[in-house]
Amino acid sequence: MKYVVVSGGVISGIGKGVIASSTGLLLKTLGARVTSIKIDPYMNIDAGTMAPTEHGEVFVLNDGGEVDLDLGNYERYLGITLGRDNNITTGKVYQHVIEKERRGDYLGKTVQIVPHLTNAIQDWIERVANLPADDSNEKPDVCVVELGGTLGDIESAPFVEALRQLRRRAGKDNFIQIHVSLVPLIHDELKTKPTQQAIRDARSAGMSPDLIACRCERKLDRATMEKIAMFCQVEPEQVIGVHNVASTYHVPLLLEQQGFLKVVSDLLKINHLEIPASLVTKGQTTWHQWQTLTTSQERVFDEVNIALVGKYVSLHDSYLSVIKSLEHSAMACRRKLNIIWVDSSSLEDSARETDPQAHYKAWHDVTTADGILVPGGFGTRGTEGMIKAAHWARTKSVPYLGICLGMQIAVIEYARNVCGVTGANSVELNESTSDPLIVYMPEIDKVNLGGTMRLGSRPTYFQENTEWSKLRSLYGSHRSSIDERHRHRYEVNPDYIERLQSAGLHFVGKDDKSERMEIIELPDHPWFVGVQYHPEYLSRVLAPSKPFLGFVASASGVFGQIQKLSQAHESDLANGVANIII
Ligand code: GLN
Repeated sequence: MKYVVVSGGVISGIGKGVIASSTGLLLKTLGARVTSIKIDPYMNIDAGTMAPTEHGEVFVLNDGGEVDLDLGNYERYLGITLGRDNNITTGKVYQHVIEKERRGDYLGKTVQIVPHLTNAIQDWIERVANLPADDSNEKPDVCVVELGGTLGDIESAPFVEALRQLRRRAGKDNFIQIHVSLVPLIHDELKTKPTQQAIRDARSAGMSPDLIACRCERKLDRATMEKIAMFCQVEPEQVIGVHNVASTYHVPLLLEQQGFLKVVSDLLKINHLEIPASLVTKGQTTWHQWQTLTTSQERVFDEVNIALVGKYVSLHDSYLSVIKSLEHSAMACRRKLNIIWVDSSSLEDSARETDPQAHYKAWHDVTTADGILVPGGFGTRGTEGMIKAAHWARTKSVPYLGICLGMQIAVIEYARNVCGVTGANSVELNESTSDPLIVYMPEIDKVNLGGTMRLGSRPTYFQENTEWSKLRSLYGSHRSSIDERHRHRYEVNPDYIERLQSAGLHFVGKDDKSERMEIIELPDHPWFVGVQYHPEYLSRVLAPSKPFLGFVASASGVFGQIQKLSQAHESDLANGVANIII
């Protein structure tokens, strides 16, 4: 097993995750099987209980793991499927070591950070790195390990020591470290001191970075690169400039142009492997398709305006996978994506008094958008505003996509305004509602919040007489069921289904027992779809998620073309050909 460790210096949040995933993507172009591990040195067991406005979205894996959003980047860039163990946290490794101690596995020894915890970290990395992560079901060749935070943080110290030792354990030519640093632009001059200091810090912790990736506002010039190389005791080709680019999809291209892949493959002694057939579609490699799609995007000028009506809009990372899915679909529809962020509370009547300017602006944004999206969410705040947005979309024939909470919102709106159930609500939003349209799922634990929702990949079955469904047509008429990822505690109350259905709201997809409502859709509307699952977790640049694709295509006025194209590709899909660009 070969390891590429990506660590950070100077400050966090400068795109370590994107550099790490881009490295993985480039290694894949050599034919290497790549997997990844993200280390988060916080005490939480997982990201499930963390506020999205503080830490960004919680990403959900097939196995139900609630993990850091960087795992989403890895799945998207590398086309792999990860599991909960691919995200290591301080909480998880301590729990593991303490459980072993309680069982008596340490045979009377004093259990210490070094060597017991650091060994546990290395064993964990080794075990998970060797798990198959792609369709081939074969052991990966390379594991990209991203260390969260910045080197030198108190909490990352045991991980740093474990990684230092892992270099020895892995053996010669099997381990490299990429240290991501910042080269700030001050008075029009790129400053190298913070990077020099960051490398010094890394060395004093026993680490020796093989590549220094310098994040900078503008292109890193030759002289600055040489200065960094000289002061940090590396060769100039080991210094890579990663300046701000139009989109993160350009980062792999940027790295490749600088000969990055050659340095990495020389250090790791990876000779050219055979490109697996799964990475070639109709004579084109995935890398070629990636280049074509991302660069052609620069020549797209027609906009599609999507109003994203949510409660966590203050931090856009709260909706990272939703944004990515919209981007993937906009690329496929040849549109420039313009997301208009709408705080759903501002749409509520009360906001007219408390903040009239925000209220009118929010309504202006919703009423002029080409499409309205209500994403997932928890808690009451802003939900009446979401219901109003769904009402606008339904009655004005504006494309609507409701995800998880967004589907529950659409059902409440329909019950209130079409079925005349004026008190309709979710018990999450009003515990004593007279008409509980959305109820707690019976099996859900009400006391412990961590890891107890309905989580992970579950099947949805298309119902009889739903061939008319636009969403179903995109998934492919040959499919009777689909698998998508879930994360929720509440569901549509089965007692109201008949009433809603006879009033025209169709439940196109249900779970395997036909008890749980998974997809709603209105037939006589350009696109009015709600899904209880989270399709954003499975969207890929080269294979956009269908609920998003249909939504963006309708908002762009090209649904017919996209539908035709996806039908033409159906036979390819049925034959298991991956990565179709439509
Ligand atoms: N709060 C809702 C539930 O638990 C929706 C969850 C979500 O949108 N992820 O069912």
